[in-house]
Amino acid sequence: MRPGEHRFEVGEVVRLRKVHPCGSDRWEITRTGIDFGLRCQGCGRRVMVPRRKFERAVRAVVGRLPPRGVGGPA
Ligand SMILES: [Zn+2]
Repeated sequence: MRPGEHRFEVGEVVRLRKVHPCGSDRWEITRTGIDFGLRCQGCGRRVMVPRRKFERAVRAVVGRLPPRGVGGPA
């Protein structure tokens, strides 16, 4: 995917070029902005990645998790 091709949103699951040591290459987006928050779908580990680095690492958007919790922007 090219940078700027997709507007990422919290709750989306993406596949990255980088495979986590746990073996999973799927990450849930937990936060967007200058830095992106990601949660590994294999082991649950959370990381923060600069937006530019994240956009270069994404291979594909593979799905979307249902909203959970309360609040958040309408
Ligand atoms: Zn992991």
